Amino acid sequence: MRLLALLVLLLCSCSHGAENLYQRSFYSMGSTVELKLYSPSEELFHRVVDACVERTKEIDRLFSNYRDDSVLAEVNRNSGVRPVSVPREFLHLVRTSIRYSELTDGAFDITIGSLFELWRGETASGRLPEESRIRDALGCTGFRKIKIDEAKSQVFLEGDCVRLDFGAIGKGYAVDEMVKIAKRNGITRGLVNFGGNIYAMDPPAGKKLWDVGVRKPGSGNEIISKIDLVNKGVATSGDYERYFEHGGKRYSHIIDPRTGWPAEDVTSVVVVSRSATEADVFSTAVSVFGLRGARMFAQRDKSLGFLVIEKNGEKKSCFGSYVCR
Ligand code: ADP
Ligand code: MG
Repeated sequence: MRLLALLVLLLCSCSHGAENLYQRSFYSMGSTVELKLYSPSEELFHRVVDACVERTKEIDRLFSNYRDDSVLAEVNRNSGVRPVSVPREFLHLVRTSIRYSELTDGAFDITIGSLFELWRGETASGRLPEESRIRDALGCTGFRKIKIDEAKSQVFLEGDCVRLDFGAIGKGYAVDEMVKIAKRNGITRGLVNFGGNIYAMDPPAGKKLWDVGVRKPGSGNEIISKIDLVNKGVATSGDYERYFEHGGKRYSHIIDPRTGWPAEDVTSVVVVSRSATEADVFSTAVSVFGLRGARMFAQRDKSLGFLVIEKNGEKKSCFGSYVCR
């Protein structure tokens, strides 16, 4: 169960003029996609959701690290061996990820794969990774090891042990792609939620904003903060929905690319941003850099907003465009 969750408080299911609210969920990449859209017809709504299902399958074929036949698997297998020709979309998300690594001073880094696999494998076998192996995996980490050939649409990983992992950007990216599909089909009002990575489109007719509540970590339904949203991406992180466990201690599944150890700094963070992709990235980056990161990123980019929750909800800090309330 998600300890930290966003709750949409105002979802008017009444019909507004020509539009009605429709909802449908489906399962993809280990999480649930939930679409709540205002559509002029049920038929159009289901057509849009069917297209979203297909789109997430395409994204999975490109970026999944759970299947051997994905483009990602091919690129990773050829680390240090040869450049791999990839579809434009793959190249685009690699380029975007590198830009976000630069913007987050390396806190977000898709070359985290080797470290992540090490932590996952060792803790699954009841061990903590040995320091020497963490050091080795750190040697396989760093976004500057990714070489892109734009003209040939090729990706080369420098060194034989670099493993890309899109776990901290893929779902946010998929959300933005589904929003594009809805808009292309004339649907502008609604919410897309993919495992806590959300995009809030235009609000219901007659409303200026979406009213979203942030539930206190670990509590029933106590709301500790509210966010007004319109055309924004939102992500939560550090809720320990997924974690490594050893000796009764839980370790975050977000790894600090500087130390090779799981992030410890921040209990939970809510990020509000221009897109779901960006919110996804910055939720990971703030989990790595903690409060200091939230302050720094908000100062650099005024459109970013962060709510950092510490001590199980007893302490809240807000940064940038996030208005504490
Ligand atoms: P959630 O999956 O809970 O939304 P994130 O968006 O932060 O959390 O994604 C975490 C996943 O991203 C991990 O499971 C791993 O695959 C990958 N990852 C872990 N640490 C990093 C990091 N520092 N930079 C980029 N990706 C990471
Ligand atoms: Mg993320």
